[in-house]
Amino acid sequence: MANYHPADELLMQFAAGQLTNALGIQTACHLESCQQCQHKVRLYEQLGGDLIDISTPTEVDSGAKSRLLTNLHKLRADSAETSATSSNAATGNTATDNTFANNTGAIEDLDELYKKQLSGANQRLPRPLRRFLPDYYENLPWSGFSKSIQSYDIPFSDDQYTARFYKIAAGSELPQHTHRGNEFTLVMSGSFSDLSGDYNPGDFVLADSSTHHQPRAHEKEDCICFAVTDAPLKMTGFFGRMLNPFLK
Ligand SMILES: [Zn+2]
Repeated sequence: MANYHPADELLMQFAAGQLTNALGIQTACHLESCQQCQHKVRLYEQLGGDLIDISTPTEVDSGAKSRLLTNLHKLRADSAETSATSSNAATGNTATDNTFANNTGAIEDLDELYKKQLSGANQRLPRPLRRFLPDYYENLPWSGFSKSIQSYDIPFSDDQYTARFYKIAAGSELPQHTHRGNEFTLVMSGSFSDLSGDYNPGDFVLADSSTHHQPRAHEKEDCICFAVTDAPLKMTGFFGRMLNPFLK
């Protein structure tokens, strides 16, 4: 059971449906194994519903309904026109054919992913991650600057957040570093320690520019963390400074 949890503000945002990004997926992964936070989210959802119930309805002017219907009709007409144009363009147009071929490739990739899911290859992953990852942690195409620290970019980074797995080899220590922004870390497997404590699977930790730490994976197994950052890490030790150029 997790000892470190997302802040209440984050759980409130999640309950209100405001975390439609990497942070939301990470929070959902924590929630899957944390009854305490599930309970809080249900409470916040209930509170949100109650607030809507007691709020005073606002009068809208009489023309609003007809304007809405006119816009919907226009939207439908535009959409029908666009799909007719695309289907005409598909005949004999090389650019469109290429796009189609690319899309077919993407569909085949998805098909492969789906087959793996059915075969149970990544059934051990938290549900919110299953449709994004091709396989379980040990079979991901890890890359990195050394054997002791490797990373895998999760394909749902956006303008605001970078989502990445880090694998710290058993017994290895990360270079000492601080953070330029916020880094939310969820321990997925294995465990690590820093001066502030010991972190095990399910633990959700927030580090920011006031955090200076040097996480060390426990000896027994590699530690895999799901990190969501809103700004790059900033290495502060001698070796760490050498790694800064490689950190996005
Ligand atoms: Zn929790």
